[in-house]
Amino acid sequence: VKVTIDKGLCSGHGRCYALAPEVFEPDEDGFSVVTQQDVPSAFEAAVRLAEQNCPEGAVTIS
Ligand code: SF4
Repeated sequence: VKVTIDKGLCSGHGRCYALAPEVFEPDEDGFSVVTQQDVPSAFEAAVRLAEQNCPEGAVTIS
């Protein structure tokens, strides 16, 4: 699966990079950056959890 973040929606709560630090990391302002757009299957469950827990709905999995 692939994952993207809508920068316009992300408000930097940090839940995604707390739940899936292998795939998301904070930039210098605390907003999330995707480090692996093509998600390895080992991290898929964590990324889905991050999608479900993003309060802004900014994480999209395709
Ligand atoms: S959980 Fe959502 S709002 Fe928070 S940093 Fe991640 S993408 Fe941004």
